[in-house]
Amino acid sequence: MKTIGLIGGMSWESTALYYQNINRAVALRQGGLSSASVHLVSLNFQEIADLQKQGDWPRMTVILQKAAQQLERSGAEVLLICTNTMHRIAQEVQSATALPLLHIGDCTADAIVGAGLHTVGLLGTRFTMEQDFMRQRLAARGIECLVPDEAGRAEVHRVIFEELCRGVVQERSRQNLIALIHQLADQGAQGVILGCTELTMLLQPDDGGLPSFDTTALHAAAAVAFSLS
Ligand code: GLU
Repeated sequence: MKTIGLIGGMSWESTALYYQNINRAVALRQGGLSSASVHLVSLNFQEIADLQKQGDWPRMTVILQKAAQQLERSGAEVLLICTNTMHRIAQEVQSATALPLLHIGDCTADAIVGAGLHTVGLLGTRFTMEQDFMRQRLAARGIECLVPDEAGRAEVHRVIFEELCRGVVQERSRQNLIALIHQLADQGAQGVILGCTELTMLLQPDDGGLPSFDTTALHAAAAVAFSLS
């Protein structure tokens, strides 16, 4: 079993889900009391969220590169950045380490292509919905991403930072996001990417009537597949 290195804490709520998903999958595959070999560098999300607001991606690059190198020195054999948003600098993080980095967009694309879909809604932070790092990664696999309108994007971003990253799960917010999924379906989305690692705390699979692609679960499963390969 290879050791999985997680760059987490963004937020810790979703990193806890990675840890749970990875261990449950290893227990299922290996049986008995088996659990995963995991090393975690958990960052202070207040610091990262402040830098995101300021748009200081160079500073965040230095922080994540250091975390990757820490994991490499500790004996991790594969690297995961446990947030969609921070994949904006995935290439820079990869360039600072010899470890393979499992990109969250790639396992998501595999699942979408595997389901035979080509047009999907993308829900996530403003960074993920409005910048092109995730949409381009998926476009390279023939997948078109539709995002909510300005008011919809503001609502998803608010729910992520003001509620989910603080451990708050509210039915009203769930209904708001389901309404956005219906709008995306009307525009031609065949499925929806839960493109923020906390969204799985709020939305059930196939909420809104479309098949959903839970990036947290898909990314954790990719880590387990690598670890046990
Ligand atoms: N975990 C979230 C994501 O997957 C948001 C937190 C962040 O901004 O990194 O994008």
